[in-house]
Amino acid sequence: MRKPIIAGNWKMYKTHEEAKRFAAEVRGLVPDAGQVDAVICAPALFLEQLVTETKGQNLHIGAQTMHEEDSGAFTGEISPVQLKDIGVEYIIIGHSERRQYFNETDESVNRKVKAALAHGLVPIMCVGETLEQRENGDTNRVVQEQVKAGLADISAADVQKTVIAYEPIWAIGTGKTATAEDANTVCQVIREKVAELSGQESADAVRIQYGGSVKPANIQELMGMEHIDGALVGGASLESESFLKLLEAGA
Ligand code: PEP
Repeated sequence: MRKPIIAGNWKMYKTHEEAKRFAAEVRGLVPDAGQVDAVICAPALFLEQLVTETKGQNLHIGAQTMHEEDSGAFTGEISPVQLKDIGVEYIIIGHSERRQYFNETDESVNRKVKAALAHGLVPIMCVGETLEQRENGDTNRVVQEQVKAGLADISAADVQKTVIAYEPIWAIGTGKTATAEDANTVCQVIREKVAELSGQESADAVRIQYGGSVKPANIQELMGMEHIDGALVGGASLESESFLKLLEAGA
């Protein structure tokens, strides 16, 4: 059985005070580790503070991007070594906003996934099609190619530690959600691709999240689907009450 994983992506939202308040509001209320993996991927500024403020709870902290090198002259970047050093456990890689606005490619995604795994961070590798690609019937091909490129030259043991987030770009932050059946179909396509690339054991173990306007009102149906093991959630992860509802539904 794959353990559900619900991850919040705060993007470029919240102040120091707001992040602190969120940590205080969820304290003691996060379902236990046997039921669900709960993750908050926060702006880099708040990571250390959140690691400290959530210590001892089943609430894990992730970053939203990183550089693949351990260190170096890369102004403005953060390395996997630095994230690990302060207790960060997860890292979102290749979010569509990073691909769209910051020139991330399948190749850079692959380098970053490898670097994350090499340093013991859990990569949440995002894939997903644009509206145009969906309307042209290209969804399966696009996600298959992204999965193949993103997981290139990664051992089966490491593939099994990776989380894949299927996030149709047209559903992110738009209020439009893929139907649970459509989301499940694409997650199944992803799982079959993982089987082809890395073997059935990897396909059975790898956790696949759906992301795109997930909220308390629709998460139950999504989580009921065979190939959906969790959710990557933007907007609805910002308020503690709504995040806790998502965790309850996921648990
Ligand atoms: C996301 O940020 O990955 C996301 C899916 O956002 P939202 O839930 O707001 O659509």
